[in-house]
Amino acid sequence: MKNRRADVQSWEGKSLRVHVLYSRAGIAQHIWIENENGAVLIDAGDGLIRDLISDDLDPKRIRGVIFTHGHFDHVGGLYSFLGFMRMIGRTEPLPIVTPEGCTEVVSLVDNFKSCYPDTIPFEISLIEIRPHQVIQIADMTIKAYPVVHCGSIEGFGILDRIPAMGYRISHEGETIAVSGDTGFCPSLKELAKGADLAIIEAGYEKSRGVSGETLEKVHLSEDLAKEIGKLAKDFILVHRGEGQ
Ligand SMILES: [Zn+2]
Repeated sequence: MKNRRADVQSWEGKSLRVHVLYSRAGIAQHIWIENENGAVLIDAGDGLIRDLISDDLDPKRIRGVIFTHGHFDHVGGLYSFLGFMRMIGRTEPLPIVTPEGCTEVVSLVDNFKSCYPDTIPFEISLIEIRPHQVIQIADMTIKAYPVVHCGSIEGFGILDRIPAMGYRISHEGETIAVSGDTGFCPSLKELAKGADLAIIEAGYEKSRGVSGETLEKVHLSEDLAKEIGKLAKDFILVHRGEGQ
């Protein structure tokens, strides 16, 4: 049987470690980044709890969840994650960071809170982050970079631009850049430049056969992702499509 989690990738720096729990375009994405104080998750796709448990990662180490944007393959596991934290009796506050105006994440959190108004043992602090805003979680400095990302669905073509962010995450002089889903936009170079690791989406295998508009507004191809990745000291490609 085909190994369906063949895309699992890890990276270890001096003070930061990365574990790509799962990343497939149109299915799910969640990436674990940790230091000695704890971990943050980048996105929470469907299957998050299963993948954390399978990879022997302790969900109690998670100090915050940071969303790149609101598409289903990035937020589909949020409700389960909140339910799991409630079940195991988390008491530490949980920051949830999402691009300002990301209705999917805001409504999922509101919905969870309204289902269990009296029995959530931890405080959920929802942070709607703005472009270039800097926050701290687990002694990691997290800076948001706006990227250009539009949905694209059968029968509707390319939709309007949605709130979407890439992030630079730094700790003790080490920096990891995460593109999130994005078209080829100018802020990507600023995001990746000089980082110790860039985690870049590569939704399409090749640029050939994909329209210029799609590559600018929806997803990168592998060749464009590598062009951005090479601005960092090291890079890994994620969020590939089926068949890649
Ligand atoms: Zn997306």
